[in-house]
Amino acid sequence: MEKNQTTSQNVPCWPGKRPLIISGPCSAETKEQMIQTGVQLADTGKVDMIRAGIWKPRTRPGNFEGIGTKGLPWLQEVKIQTGLPITVEVAKPKHIEDALSFEVDVLWIGARSTVNPASIDEVASALRGVDIPVLIKNPMNPDIELWMGAVERIANAGIKNIGLIHRGFSTFGDTEYRNTPMWHLAIEMKRRNPELIMICDPTHISGKRDIIQKVAQKAVDLDYDGLMIESHINPDEAWTDSKQQITPATLKKMMESIVWRREKLNDGFFDTILEQLRDQVDQIDDELFNLIGRRMKVSEQIGEYKKLHQITILQKNRWNEIVEKGRKIGSLFGLSPEFIDKYLTAIHMESINHQNKVMN
Ligand code: PEP
Ligand code: MN
Repeated sequence: MEKNQTTSQNVPCWPGKRPLIISGPCSAETKEQMIQTGVQLADTGKVDMIRAGIWKPRTRPGNFEGIGTKGLPWLQEVKIQTGLPITVEVAKPKHIEDALSFEVDVLWIGARSTVNPASIDEVASALRGVDIPVLIKNPMNPDIELWMGAVERIANAGIKNIGLIHRGFSTFGDTEYRNTPMWHLAIEMKRRNPELIMICDPTHISGKRDIIQKVAQKAVDLDYDGLMIESHINPDEAWTDSKQQITPATLKKMMESIVWRREKLNDGFFDTILEQLRDQVDQIDDELFNLIGRRMKVSEQIGEYKKLHQITILQKNRWNEIVEKGRKIGSLFGLSPEFIDKYLTAIHMESINHQNKVMN
């Protein structure tokens, strides 16, 4: 491979610039869209690096899979017009070769690649002898060892400048997020790799515009080194991820509204044990609400069934059975009978209300 390389010294903002703000469209779509987005982002004065997806590994086939190499000259033009470094996602050796020949400054590895050690091996082999910074997103699934494995493989290929991007993890069932943050996993990853920068991608965690700021603020409060946020001149018309992209103007406002309270965590990145424990509690609470919501859906199905067969909602024996069983199981987990009674009564009342709604 022709290693027409840029070096990490050519990236003026990294290492060193903190917070490092990366923004740009989910996908490069047209030359105009790419250049207008890049120029508007640069004009905000809030952005250090421009991103764009050129090759898009999509979960399901048949969707837009990226404009391909044809989009790289557009990005190069953005770099010339704005003076900002550019970054793209690479998943194959050919992507790396093309990105380097169009003077891409930083590469990133997407969540769908990090999950697969065979892909990472191919990318790592292609990176041997190349001096370029590489950002590695967490894998799709909440498996920190896969994330570690990707870092080790890329480092073993001789890449000195590695950063991490936390973009959340996919889970079964609906949650508030497109990808649940599971902050404690990113915290653990940072604990194991204190020398690597950690960037948050609140866009892919959120999946929708209205909670991006909240997630970004949380990352800032946890002392992350930067943010990667998707932006588009016309988000509703975006060819990919349209619900989660924001305009450069919105990005500017968002950056101005975020409270950069880094000095509060003067223990350094993520080092507060309390924060780690609270994140675990938040995560478990999310899961509990998810489960309770699912339980109510089943209650509604029972309601439908009872209605069909004209049975009453409240059936005494069934209720006694639930309480007895609950007390036994609860005691195995150190929960008092008083708590179990209060908890089951609340759940039962909510369940009756759901059934009532269905029956009447
Ligand atoms: C992206 O950044 O556009 C992307 C595809 O992200 P991820 O790999 O996090 O899904
Ligand atoms: Mn995207």
